[in-house]
Amino acid sequence: MYNHRGFDGEILPFPPGKVVCVGRNYVDHVHELNSEMPTQPLLFMKPASSLRHVSEPVNIPADRGSCHNELEIALLIGKTLSSQTSIPVRSAIWGVGLGLDLTLRDVQTELKAKGLPWERAKSFDGACPVSDFVPIQQIDNLDTLTFNLKVNQQIRQLGDAALMIWNIDSLLMQISQVFTLSPGDIVLTGTPKGVGPLSDGDEVSMTLDGHFSLHTRVFSNKDGE
Ligand code: ZN
Repeated sequence: MYNHRGFDGEILPFPPGKVVCVGRNYVDHVHELNSEMPTQPLLFMKPASSLRHVSEPVNIPADRGSCHNELEIALLIGKTLSSQTSIPVRSAIWGVGLGLDLTLRDVQTELKAKGLPWERAKSFDGACPVSDFVPIQQIDNLDTLTFNLKVNQQIRQLGDAALMIWNIDSLLMQISQVFTLSPGDIVLTGTPKGVGPLSDGDEVSMTLDGHFSLHTRVFSNKDGE
């Protein structure tokens, strides 16, 4: 059963809520998928049932085509944020971690081509493994966070918050104008380039520089749960 956790092992006093995700927030990733450059943040959601701890093995579906990594800065919301028209809004953040926006890329490509919604590709059970969260007070500067993903000891993604199209304050303000963010919700802030398929047995490491490095393993669920 998933609960939000801090790095000292405590369970945080917020119920797991929705995950609001931002698509296309780094120019290099927009280019790698030949996507159109956004004029406002592209938003979609994952339900609380998609959340898992990265300390558990990452379980990817075996029978639905490729499943891609998208490592992203994850913000745990600690205070309600609604209809904000000015920044800063970061006082609403309880903590910062990393999340994997797992994406069934073949399924998504098919849905995109038909103009259909993406939930089958991005919102399935286990589609959102997240780390524990570092309290916001321990983060010096949200706009200069850097992070990386290694798969089988090879660097696959290098992220730098300074390269976001919309920075964290701007994203939270714009999201709050569409969806009320409540304590326990998570915001995933978009993936840098380097998305690619994960396979059964892959070793995955994710690092938020200066804060933590976590390791897990991928397994492909061939028999259903
Ligand atoms: Zn993503």
